[in-house]
Amino acid sequence: RAESAQRLRQGVDRATHTVHQLLALARSGADALDMAQREHELVALVSDRVVLASPMALSRQIELELQAPEECWLRVNRESVGALIDNLVDNAIKYTPAGGKVDVLLLDEGAGQVRLRLEDSGPGIPPAERERVFDRFYRVPGATESAPGTGLGLPIVRAVAQRHGATVRLDDSPLGGLRVEVRFPVPEGGAAGP
Ligand code: ATP
Ligand code: MG
Repeated sequence: RAESAQRLRQGVDRATHTVHQLLALARSGADALDMAQREHELVALVSDRVVLASPMALSRQIELELQAPEECWLRVNRESVGALIDNLVDNAIKYTPAGGKVDVLLLDEGAGQVRLRLEDSGPGIPPAERERVFDRFYRVPGATESAPGTGLGLPIVRAVAQRHGATVRLDDSPLGGLRVEVRFPVPEGGAAGP
C-alpha cells in the first residue's frame, strides 16, 4: 500500500509540474497587456529564486553559488523572468550528478546590458542537440531517465527571452557541463535606473 501511495504521489507531482509548465509557456506568449514590463532589481529577483532552489541542491549535495553585483536594474516582466530563472536553475541542478557544482552569475555589462549565466558540472548538451532542446516536449535521448520533466523548460526560457528582446545561448561550461547565457540588450534611452 505504501508503495502505491508513493507512486500516486509521484504521479500527482508530475501532473502538477506539467500543468505549471504549460501555464508558464502559455503566459510567456500572452498578449502585451499581461506582459507589462517594469524596472525591477534583478539581484534580489535572482537570489530569491536561488534561495528557493537551494533545498533541492542541498538534497543532491550540489554546491549552488550566486555571483552578482550589488544591484542591477532592468525593465522586465517579473513573473515571466522568474519562470525563466526557475527553469534554468532547475535544469542545472536536476541534470548535474550529485556532488557537482552550479554557478549562477548575473553580469552587469554596463549601459543597461545584463547577462544571466548558468554554469554546471553536469553532462552538458551535445552541440548537435543544442537547437532541438528548444522544441516543445523534446528531451535529449538517454540523458533523462533519472530526471523527470516535460520538455517545456527551455521553450519557456526562449519565449520569455524573446519577449524581452534577449537571446539565449548554449555552450560548454568551464565546469565541464553546460553554460546557458541569456543576454538582455541595451534598453532604449541608455542605462536603466530605479
Ligand atoms: P521540464 O523543464 O519541462 O521539467 P525538461 O527539463 O526535460 O522538462 P527542458 O528544460 O526544456 O525540459 O530541457 C530539455 C532537455 O535539455 C532536457 O530534457 C535535457 O535533456 C536537456 N538539458 C537541459 N538543461 C540541461 C543541463 N543543464 N544539462 C544537461 N542537459 C540539459
Ligand atoms: Mg527543465
